[in-house]
Amino acid sequence: MAEIQLKSISKRWGSFVGVQSFDLTIPDREFLVLLGPSGCGKTTTMRMIAGLEGITEGEILVDGKRVNDLDPKDRDVAMVFQSYALYPNMSVYENIRFPLKVRGIDPSTHNEKVMRASAMVELDDFLHRKPAELSGGQRQRVALARAIVREPNVFLMDEPLSNLDAKLRVSTRAQIKNLSHELAVTTIYVTHDQIEAMTLADRVVVMNKGVVQQVGTPTDIYDNPANTFVASFIGSPAMNLIDGTVSGGTFTAPKTSVAGTGLPDGDVTLGFRAEDASLATAGEGQITANIYSLELLGDATMITVRIGPSLVSVKADKSFRAEIGDPVSIAIPHDQCHFFDAGSGQRLQ
Ligand code: ATP
Repeated sequence: MAEIQLKSISKRWGSFVGVQSFDLTIPDREFLVLLGPSGCGKTTTMRMIAGLEGITEGEILVDGKRVNDLDPKDRDVAMVFQSYALYPNMSVYENIRFPLKVRGIDPSTHNEKVMRASAMVELDDFLHRKPAELSGGQRQRVALARAIVREPNVFLMDEPLSNLDAKLRVSTRAQIKNLSHELAVTTIYVTHDQIEAMTLADRVVVMNKGVVQQVGTPTDIYDNPANTFVASFIGSPAMNLIDGTVSGGTFTAPKTSVAGTGLPDGDVTLGFRAEDASLATAGEGQITANIYSLELLGDATMITVRIGPSLVSVKADKSFRAEIGDPVSIAIPHDQCHFFDAGSGQRLQ
């Protein structure tokens, strides 16, 4: 059992704010992903939970007990970092066993625990090898096994896949997802990769500049981004954003007109996803522009047009044929239009 409560935790170094008033309850067994660009405060948040970084303000509670002043070793959390930090002179077996020795766990149980953890990450055949004799993916699995073997209440993982090549990343990601399901332990996972976040998380926390932007399930965050930062960070490609104005209920921007928004007059940003829009018969869509680029994706063709300073993409059928410079009309269904306040970036509708 481990429910973690972050009560308005902040981290400052002098006047620099690393993390600002982070408030969240992470229920037992949740897989929570902290997502954001480099420097947004993800690692600092995780290090505060682990006890590796002091907290300037706020409280951390684990199962209702305040842990602010507990040493990392007394917090019952296991961390997996992007650098595996294995002991080069020890075998895989000894590396995995190490946390049990340090914690003074009954030696008669070690073998069974090491075998169980190594089987979970499919390392049974490599137990006698030294880290130097393993691939990057195998080393990362040793690091995972070393965290699992302790049977902690909480797993903290800081970009554990970032040193792996693209293919291994996908297979190790699936393995982590499977492990988290099997172990059913509260997990906090840090990444700047939105696909990793969307595929692994029960809930995602999107952070920017030390401030939480949105907390929600992957679907919430994808379908209803709270602001233009989240809209532009989630999705591949990111949501199209067009700055314009609303007057008399109609949104207008260069080459763009969306009637019946129901919004009051003001500066507004229109957002929509490439896959939610489609090509329309000339003049019937809300956007009419000339093709800026065409990319064949295999299952579809991505058409991009330029609207003022923005590049705007729409996914068309893979059989669509046209030339750069040809005119296209883009239709966006009403319920797929997102509107944000142009000044604050906050969602209006
Ligand atoms: P990355 O993805 O690059 O690891 P991150 O989101 O994990 O980034 P953090 O490591 O949490 O970011 O850092 C948040 C901010 O705090 C950064 O701007 C960083 O420069 C700053 N920071 C981190 N540690 C310190 C420190 N000891 N002293 C001063 N500033 C720090």
